[in-house]
Amino acid sequence: MSDLRIERVEAVLLDVPLRRPHRFARASMDAQPIMLVFLHTQGGVTGVGEGVVPAGPWWGGESVETMALIVERYFTPILLGRRVEDIDATMTALTDAVANNLFAKAAVEVAMHDAWARSLGVPVHTLLGGLARTNIPVTWALGTETAEVVADEALAKLDAGLHHSFKLKMGSQSPADDVARVAAVAEKLAGSAGVRVDINARWDRPTSLTWLPRLAEAGVELIEQPVPGPEFEDLAEINHALPIPVMADESLRTPADALRLARHRAADIFSLKTTKSGGLRATRAIAEIAAAANIPCHGGTSIEGPIGTTASLHAACATPAVTWGSELFGPLLMREELLATPLHYADGELHLPEGPGLGVELDPAAVARFRRS
Ligand code: MN
Repeated sequence: MSDLRIERVEAVLLDVPLRRPHRFARASMDAQPIMLVFLHTQGGVTGVGEGVVPAGPWWGGESVETMALIVERYFTPILLGRRVEDIDATMTALTDAVANNLFAKAAVEVAMHDAWARSLGVPVHTLLGGLARTNIPVTWALGTETAEVVADEALAKLDAGLHHSFKLKMGSQSPADDVARVAAVAEKLAGSAGVRVDINARWDRPTSLTWLPRLAEAGVELIEQPVPGPEFEDLAEINHALPIPVMADESLRTPADALRLARHRAADIFSLKTTKSGGLRATRAIAEIAAAANIPCHGGTSIEGPIGTTASLHAACATPAVTWGSELFGPLLMREELLATPLHYADGELHLPEGPGLGVELDPAAVARFRRS
């Protein structure tokens, strides 16, 4: 068995150009900044994890720049000499030194899993309890163009068999304009594809109670996070008022959040993200709470590149409660692959790669090409 002690920690920043700009209510991106963390062990095995946020620090306060600083200055002295398999104790030590910063912690925690699994010659999902599935449906994120343009894009994807479910971002226009646009798209796609919306915490309680019933009438199947993350009571009231499920995203980062959401039935579905929750094990803990409360889960994304997407895919494939598909489309938005062998998307699903660790290998030339100087 190789020596699993961490000998060197390396954080690398990349900027990966996108195929088209990706917009949120309060931010837009043309390229995705990515932090890769490499944990090199004494025995020669290296694990990699990815730190990434959607379009900068608006979502949760972290950015790749804050992550690199936290990893280099505060995590590295704690990590050196520790064994990559001692994950829970190491994460406790990191949290004793650095509060919050869950996206940065996720990068390290995934790299520990990757190195540990590679040293054992097993896939990461084996360390998470084994497989519940080997592929997962991927919802496609539609742009912010007019209803006709967006519906045409969705119908083309449907015809090509690429995606069977679509997600629209809301919250950047007035509620009346936003709802009219989404309702038009939902009505065009009714009966042929699922339509979901994400308001990214942009609305308040009265706006939500006024406008969301109209989206349900238009055939929208799922409403993601209408109100700000801390507003659990408002989220619960909206969830109870609507005939379609509300999904928690910004309101759900820790297992304690999951308990509170479940207790209030504040959401009918949980969006799991390995990034926002500090890694694979916390994500599993949230999924266990969801399963105990009979709340289904969805595999969410922070627009991860291929490393982060694969980590999230292992978590989703090892978790029986993830029955509402995923939005693991990050690599499809990126103009170039970072992997030696691209991820396998087919028939609207992302398929788990085979091999030890995460089961994917970075292309060093691509990493060098997008490395921030
Ligand atoms: Mn979301």
